[in-house]
Amino acid sequence: MFTAFLIKYAEIGVKGKNRYLFEDALVQQIKYALKRCEGEFKIRKAQGRIYVDAVGEFDFEETVENLQTVFGISGICPVVYVEDEGFEQLSKTIVDYMDRVYPDKNKTFKVVARRARKNYPLDTMELNREIGGVLLDAFPQLSVDVHEPDINLYVEIREKIYIYSRIIPGPCGMPVGTNGKAMLLLSGGIDSPVAGYMISKRGVKIDAVYFHAPPYTSERAKQKVVDLARQVSRYSGPIYLHVVNFTDIQLAIYEKCPHEELTIIMRRYMMKIAEKIARDTECLGLITGESIGQVASQTMHSLYATNEVCTLPVYRPCIGLDKQEIVEISEKIGTYETSIQPYEDCCTIFVAKHPVTKPNLEYIKRHEENLTGVIEGLLETALSTKELLIVRPED
Ligand code: ATP
Ligand code: MG
Repeated sequence: MFTAFLIKYAEIGVKGKNRYLFEDALVQQIKYALKRCEGEFKIRKAQGRIYVDAVGEFDFEETVENLQTVFGISGICPVVYVEDEGFEQLSKTIVDYMDRVYPDKNKTFKVVARRARKNYPLDTMELNREIGGVLLDAFPQLSVDVHEPDINLYVEIREKIYIYSRIIPGPCGMPVGTNGKAMLLLSGGIDSPVAGYMISKRGVKIDAVYFHAPPYTSERAKQKVVDLARQVSRYSGPIYLHVVNFTDIQLAIYEKCPHEELTIIMRRYMMKIAEKIARDTECLGLITGESIGQVASQTMHSLYATNEVCTLPVYRPCIGLDKQEIVEISEKIGTYETSIQPYEDCCTIFVAKHPVTKPNLEYIKRHEENLTGVIEGLLETALSTKELLIVRPED
């Protein structure tokens, strides 16, 4: 019965003069998400509201699901709207609405009227009372509860009259494209896709870099990362995924540096390369899935040593989350099932049995000197041979 949605947005409502920029970005992102859906849609902005109208046939569930990937949306309300043809006609529409949306009438309700057009003959209080009365007459099983009703029935008198009662939660956040771009270090694990999602949620566009180590890591492991990027791109929009061959760098480190420092040194080179690509592509920060203490390479000492090579800000949105909390987000955004597929990642192959948990930065730097003369060329080759994949949600 619904052919339209009222889109609620919270945070972007408070942006003062920039508000229209945020609203326009939101409209763009809604259009983009709806391209993936059956049917044709019209989107219109009116009085601080965004409405999505379906033109002809459309799939309700699919449409809601896709709207739920648009950052900036706090609520999706399936709405019925009618021309103002007097209170009697409105009463009929509302009775019909309640009858169809709530086949089981054993419920409590409350009418929440709003009058954006002050020339309507009834004021808000009168509307609440009158509509409440009409519904109680029509459906004697219904009862009113103004404190905790099962149903909040919203009736908004604007240029047209809007009726809705369901508010399906959106992902909240801010529309992508309103807050610059950052480079995500995307591995095949659980944490980094979640980290990308969280930063993108703040309106940031993301690109990604993946380090692989063929033949130690397989084509399947790489495909897994592409799949994760695709899932994140449902929220973030298209992701430019840079795939860097890290094998020779890893082998050089393995050969010339103490094994208990392998992971840290490797992580430092990953950050260095990621930062170079980030600067070349106008990214203003790096993003990783690190969380304090999760593994040896993520203790405070290790993070200190890793971070030391970066001059761009490094965003680590999972930093204070427990693994279980990260897992919950990954389940919610649909990356978990892919992340737990058992393909090797390039770190697991070269890990030491007893990695340092308190790396000493001076030692690390001294040991990295063993790579002088070799590493420069390897870094150059890694950058010049990188592959660029454009990952889109619809592919
Ligand atoms: P994740 O679940 O994201 O893989 P993790 O718990 O396995 O994280 P690490 O392997 O220590 O942690 O990696 C820490 C972070 O470094 C990752 O979250 C990711 O941002 C980055 N990273 C690790 N390996 C790679 C890789 N092969 N390519 C790109 N980034 C990587
Ligand atoms: Mg990992």
